[in-house]
Amino acid sequence: MTARRLDGTEIARQIREELKARLAELEAKGVRPGLGVILVGDDPASAVYVRSKTRTCEELGLFHETKHLGVGATTAEVVAAVEHYNRRVEVHGILVQLPLPRQVDAQRVLDSVRPEKDVDGFHPENVGRLVQKRPRFVPCTPAGIMEMLRRSGIEVAGRRAVVLGRSDIVGRPMALLLTHADATVTVCHSRTRDLPSVTREADILVAAIGKAGLVRAEHVRPGAVVVDVGMNRVTDPALARDLLLPSRLPEFEKKGHALVGDVHAPSVQEVAGALTPVPGGVGPLTIAQLIANTVRAAAGPA
Ligand code: NAP
Repeated sequence: MTARRLDGTEIARQIREELKARLAELEAKGVRPGLGVILVGDDPASAVYVRSKTRTCEELGLFHETKHLGVGATTAEVVAAVEHYNRRVEVHGILVQLPLPRQVDAQRVLDSVRPEKDVDGFHPENVGRLVQKRPRFVPCTPAGIMEMLRRSGIEVAGRRAVVLGRSDIVGRPMALLLTHADATVTVCHSRTRDLPSVTREADILVAAIGKAGLVRAEHVRPGAVVVDVGMNRVTDPALARDLLLPSRLPEFEKKGHALVGDVHAPSVQEVAGALTPVPGGVGPLTIAQLIANTVRAAAGPA
């Protein structure tokens, strides 16, 4: 069996198309949604993610601005950048690109974002609202995954879901959303014993751990839906030969590096019923949800 490919690029394209209609309605009322981005330091991956997000703003005609602070920025300086965007009327959504350098207190920074502009959904007020199932902004990666499951016709209610990872950004909100959608949810982490026996119970398995190719065929129940959130860069040729699908090897040989997920695609695609690719799976959906949240922030309370 070869797993059905869940094409995040195509679903993200559909979401962007739908947003265009919403943007035209807002434009008629004189409202142009705006995103304020804060990037600290010079992590190349963060710069790439910010560029993808601002490029999507441009494609859809949103206002955007990026404040780029040096790698030595203090917590007070990053908070001041947030407060600047908190005050600006053109900015409806604020994105603080993570991770922040070690000397910056990320929690204090995220707490300083006005909850009404917190389009990443990381402010404690928005986290609390999500827990209580009355969300304002839902974190973009798990929201994008739920949208993909819905649009792919994958039933969630009543099914066993296992979430691998318990971060504030992905694992924890993912588990909440699946619970709210009536799945029976188990959360695994680095202290989980006999991981394969737990993950094999999943009808829907979401892997968000940041460990290249950790999820193998032995972790997956035949026919399960497997969502691969991981984004890991491989540069070692032996590792690449193990982790990449043969069709991606020429790309690796040309560039000397490749992006791989937390799922070992060559073995898992023979067992799973459906699988998200990396790249082209969860990543584009995360960006589409960020824009959707920014448009909702501009539209104001429903
Ligand atoms: P994170 O904050 O580092 O959290 C990783 C989680 O995985 C932790 O809960 C950790 O457990 C668990 N874990 C680590 N090793 C494990 C193991 N061997 N077995 C079981 N659990 C293990 O990572 P994150 O921010 O959630 O990101 C996870 C991955 O998703 C990364 O590759 C990241 O780049 C990617 N990501 C992708 C997108 C996207 O748009 N596609 C968005 C966000 C993140 P403990 O809690 O016990 O430490």
